[in-house]
Amino acid sequence: MAEKFDAIVAGGGLSGMGVGALLAAAGKKVIVLEKNPYLGGRATSFKYRGFLLNVGQHAVLQGGKVERLMEAVGRPLDDEKDKGFFEELSFYEDGKYKTVMEKVLVDKPEEARKFYATLAEIEPKDMPKFDGITAAEWLAKYVTDPKLRWLAHTNATTCCTTRKLEDMAASALIESMKVISRSPITYMLTKGIGSLSQTMAGVIKGKGGDVRTRAKVLHVIVENKKVRGVSVEIGDETPDGMMENIIKIEAPLVITAFPVWDLFKVLEEKLFLPDFVKMCLHLDNRVSNIGFSVATKEPLIAEKKFIFADVPQKNDVPLALTILPTSVVVPPISLEGNHLTEFTCVCEPSFGTDPERIAKTIAEIKEFVNQIFPGWEKKALWIRPFYHWEEPSRTAGRMGKFRPGPKAPGVEGLFFAGDTVNSRTVPGLEAATDSALICAEAILGKLP
Ligand SMILES: Cc1cc2nc3c(=O)[nH]c(=O)nc-3n(C[C@H](O)[C@H](O)[C@H](O)COP(=O)(O)OP(=O)(O)OC[C@H]3O[C@@H](n4cnc5c(N)ncnc54)[C@H](O)[C@@H]3O)c2cc1C
Repeated sequence: MAEKFDAIVAGGGLSGMGVGALLAAAGKKVIVLEKNPYLGGRATSFKYRGFLLNVGQHAVLQGGKVERLMEAVGRPLDDEKDKGFFEELSFYEDGKYKTVMEKVLVDKPEEARKFYATLAEIEPKDMPKFDGITAAEWLAKYVTDPKLRWLAHTNATTCCTTRKLEDMAASALIESMKVISRSPITYMLTKGIGSLSQTMAGVIKGKGGDVRTRAKVLHVIVENKKVRGVSVEIGDETPDGMMENIIKIEAPLVITAFPVWDLFKVLEEKLFLPDFVKMCLHLDNRVSNIGFSVATKEPLIAEKKFIFADVPQKNDVPLALTILPTSVVVPPISLEGNHLTEFTCVCEPSFGTDPERIAKTIAEIKEFVNQIFPGWEKKALWIRPFYHWEEPSRTAGRMGKFRPGPKAPGVEGLFFAGDTVNSRTVPGLEAATDSALICAEAILGKLP
């Protein structure tokens, strides 16, 4: 006999765990099915040589949607216990650190004043107007100063799946500028970003629900335009596709919580209008992450600084580098008596098709880092390079009407969550958690 639940969530990333925990907090018996052997999706943590390494967006915005979600599920984050705050935002340029003010001390202050006034005047209700205009077009109307342009570009590419303003909605750029002015304080979690999903798994199980890893949803079962449940492959895939591993789970509600361009792997395209299918596939615009984690005895940077720098590229946009003195900000993350520093650049996914290019870029970043910390490689206990390409390292750069809403058109009981769904929030963790809040509200009428 098939197992029965009130709701099935396909995908155990932050959005899936979030919507699952919100429904559980409202009294529903929920099951979350995650194809990987771990929870958290693109926001997870794992142990390496005694260090806790984060994958995905590391820094969380104070007062944002992540906090709102944790409060709504009854597990608010505690400033003293859970958070390590960054005290300064710095830019490394021309051999020295600059504060935000120094870096964007623009040559055209009148232009900057007007630009900020224009941003301040844009209210949430106006945002749809900017969905169909590119960020490049919109910015060109207001900004000629290269420093101001740099700031807007860096901000937007820290949040969205494109390094090029031509591919991004003006609304995404505007929101990224607004978010930073609203909530400039960021922190890291002492137990790692993956602790958010673990906490939410506890909420779901505490209410009689279940969270299963190595459980890949193969198909969402829809009959007469109503959701009935899912078929799931349990355990690792076998080359012969063993049938005993495939089970059915029933529920009147199914929430898919992964990027919407993958929807048609589990749902038949013909259930939807062609325009809807096109919109979901059109959101598939990716960037990847390349960089390395470094362990040292002494910290490379002793201050709690969030550092930005540009790694120059021949004939291309520079690689935007972030440097995080992780163990200085959140000491429990590193092995006692050691330190962890993380260097990450956003890059085109095409890097991944060429191992030589990856190696060359890592070498270029290392050389650039040598300008900031001369001789750093000799101090390293280990250096762990990474290249993350499989899923995009940002939220989609298209917003509003270019994204589907939380309720599937024309299929009763089918809902969507995830960082490609209707939220206008950036960056990625904010978009994922906001989508969980929006989706749960659409199902329940109001949040728990
Ligand atoms: C290296 C890296 C760096 C990043 N840095 C930033 C940043 O600086 N700024 C920023 O804005 N964002 C960043 N992000 C993006 C951010 O982490 C994501 O936006 C956010 O975590 C997305 O959460 P989600 O729940 O929407 O999706 P996901 O985390 O992708 O969750 C989807 C889950 O569904 C599972 N799944 C998919 N198909 C199935 C199936 N058929 N059955 C069962 N399970 C399934 C997947 O395995 C996954 O666990 C980064 C991401 C990465 C990987």
